[in-house]
Amino acid sequence: MRQKHIDLPADQQITQWYNVIADIPNGVEPPLDPATGQPIGPDKMGAIFPMGLLEQEMSTERWIGIPEEILDIWQIWRPAPLIRATFLEEALKTKAKIYYKYEGVSPSGSHKTNSAVAQAYYNKQEGVKRLATETGAGQWGCALSFAAQKFGIDCKVYMVRVSYDQKPYRKVMMNTYGAEIVASPSPDTPTGREILASDPDTPGSLGIAISEALEDTVSREDTKYALGSVLNHVCLHQSVIGLEAKKQLEMVGDYPDVVIGFCGGGSNFAGLAAPFVPDKLAGRQIRLLGVEPTSCPTLTKGRFAYDFGDVSQRTPLLYMYTLGHNFIPSGIHAGGLRYHGMAPVISALMRENLMEAIALQQLECFEAGALFARTEGIIPAPESSHAIRAAIIEATREPDKPQTILFNLSGHGLLDLSSYEKYFAGQLVNYALPDEAIIKATCNLPVINR
Ligand SMILES: *Cc1c(COP(=O)(O)O)cnc(C)c1O
Repeated sequence: MRQKHIDLPADQQITQWYNVIADIPNGVEPPLDPATGQPIGPDKMGAIFPMGLLEQEMSTERWIGIPEEILDIWQIWRPAPLIRATFLEEALKTKAKIYYKYEGVSPSGSHKTNSAVAQAYYNKQEGVKRLATETGAGQWGCALSFAAQKFGIDCKVYMVRVSYDQKPYRKVMMNTYGAEIVASPSPDTPTGREILASDPDTPGSLGIAISEALEDTVSREDTKYALGSVLNHVCLHQSVIGLEAKKQLEMVGDYPDVVIGFCGGGSNFAGLAAPFVPDKLAGRQIRLLGVEPTSCPTLTKGRFAYDFGDVSQRTPLLYMYTLGHNFIPSGIHAGGLRYHGMAPVISALMRENLMEAIALQQLECFEAGALFARTEGIIPAPESSHAIRAAIIEATREPDKPQTILFNLSGHGLLDLSSYEKYFAGQLVNYALPDEAIIKATCNLPVINR
């Protein structure tokens, strides 16, 4: 019988994170203080993040130990399974072997729980009583609500208005974990009130929600801020995905020709792909392929420059691919996180030609998601369906070519069924962000005086 489910024995559990920054040639550009144009020190960010996470953010150590308490909670769902998509392979009539790492087994249903637990832990270590955060499609808010609850920390989530309205069950889920949720822009912060006054019907954006969560954080002594993607420490926490997958493939004597993941802010793809970077640097033939939506083409059409992480220009400047911090995504696209920037780690991998990126339209991705559900049984998150579509493209380009494809199934789509409903009803259309919109959104990037 073909082996379908590849489980990592408990004694093979990953106990150290892998920090790819140690191996990226020329490193990752440092975050800058917008006031001075100089690299920002941990002291300045101590008001919003705990030191434990800031140390990881700045770290160039290759391996970082994972605390027991995090491993203990992770055991609810980790090691996560690696599954060979044999039924999808048959449906595609391909000789390619397709494996997927399934992160939807976490309590909140996505990979985000990996970093949420780690972030809540380091906040708890430093006596933080309350966390403020933003959430786009809702997965990060759910993950952090769960993790904060595990460590007895209060959690307030600013949820982008359009998803707050479209995904009511995400809100119930966060409430179930004990968190407080508000639609963003909200009347609770100065930025929220200002935007509501000038544009009461705005769908909101991640950039706005981040501004609100940051304002909340700096207005209170007991509160710190948590971000679910983009930052180095988040990508670090997610490296467990690729480290496990690598060991699991080894167990069946396989190695990927191509590694695929959806890129929103970049954390699940970085997590899966980074552990393969040293092999690629050592000359091994392996492609690392990030996939993004044509409605938010950060890697394929964005500028590579220093930019703010939020609308009200409160964050340090990050050197990254960006569509501009004022970018407000079109409400047309049904799937998930559409952030204007991309993780500096991913941006540096692009700069060094260690990875490549493609943008896909939403209809072909929902079609791939539905085919995956009908063959493998799991209904994928709309984000993850982009990785599935890319895996299908790779597996069918030369169907007789024996090759191994590994992709990340970053989450299940059981709370995204309204998007599938719209897809089946023919209410979704393809949408690519027009070049004029990109030029307009990126013409106001900050000028750095150094
Ligand atoms: C948030 C999310 C993503 C995108 O975020 P990354 O930081 O790029 O990983 C992808 N898939 C799922 C299921 C998510 O929840």
